[in-house]
Amino acid sequence: MLQLFIPLGALGVMYRQLKYTLADMDQLFHLLETPPEITDLPNAPPLKIQHGEIRFEQVDFGYTPERQILQSVSFTVPAGKKLAVVGHSGAGKSTLSRLLYRFYDVTRGRILIDGQDIRSVTQYSLRKAIGIVPQDTVLFNDSIRYNLQYGNPQATQAELERAADMAQIRQFIEALPEGWNTVVGERGLKLSGGEKQRVAIARAILKQPPILIFDEATSSLDSGTEQAIQKTLNEVAGQHTTLMIAHRLSTIVDADQILVMNQGQVVEQGTHSELIKYHGIYQQMWELQLHEKEETSSLSFDQH
Ligand code: ATP
Repeated sequence: MLQLFIPLGALGVMYRQLKYTLADMDQLFHLLETPPEITDLPNAPPLKIQHGEIRFEQVDFGYTPERQILQSVSFTVPAGKKLAVVGHSGAGKSTLSRLLYRFYDVTRGRILIDGQDIRSVTQYSLRKAIGIVPQDTVLFNDSIRYNLQYGNPQATQAELERAADMAQIRQFIEALPEGWNTVVGERGLKLSGGEKQRVAIARAILKQPPILIFDEATSSLDSGTEQAIQKTLNEVAGQHTTLMIAHRLSTIVDADQILVMNQGQVVEQGTHSELIKYHGIYQQMWELQLHEKEETSSLSFDQH
């Protein structure tokens, strides 16, 4: 009987929220091929964000019981600070972001946000507090407006325009044949990796989460686009606690702390200048990337 008294307007809002939530989960589980097996504890309270501090304590994790991926990973990202994670391919960097978003539960240790174990709070409140800019952004077969607004279904056109401006994608959208109504995605206009990532950044700006995860795309963007995205991210990250999974070291030199991972373990931690002096893995990776950059620029010079 109770349902009869729910106003139609509220039903509409509930339907829209459900639609967005289902689309969100569906797309993300599909993307990560993750079984939706994580459940809330009975009567789990919502996450209470005070400042947005992230803490990993002695975290072990394996996707399967036979193969451990992370071993005793501990670190803290103070509220409002930026932690960059680097390391060779397969070191376990993106796994950290999947655990923080609770796609999986840790096998040992715990992950805390403002002192609360993320397994003890509702997934809805946890994911509401985190904005993810993934390596490969999924676009819906819908208008570009819908694709941005999905970061915050209540956003007005003025808010959308501001977010698109900050993510440096507004000019691109407005030059499309049908502007904001242009259909994108698999069955619509296909966007490049850099454009999709800017859509994801705009979504994160609209969501205004206290915590931001940025998983840098492995495929390299042209340096102009990379710099533009980097500038935007630094602006966006300014107000948020940020976990940045980085492939190009040039993008993270100004991070408050850099974590170097190797085979599932934290092997070095410090600022860029501290790690360069340390002469470890980070310094080797830095030299290697400088070398690659010099080779690329001399190659493009040769072609002219
Ligand atoms: P990259 O720099 O290449 O993105 P990464 O450091 O982010 O690598 P992860 O994606 O965290 O590495 O992967 C760490 C290890 O976990 C890899 O050996 C990978 O094969 C394995 N792995 C990742 N996802 C899964 C999964 N869904 N099931 C099983 N193993 C996985």
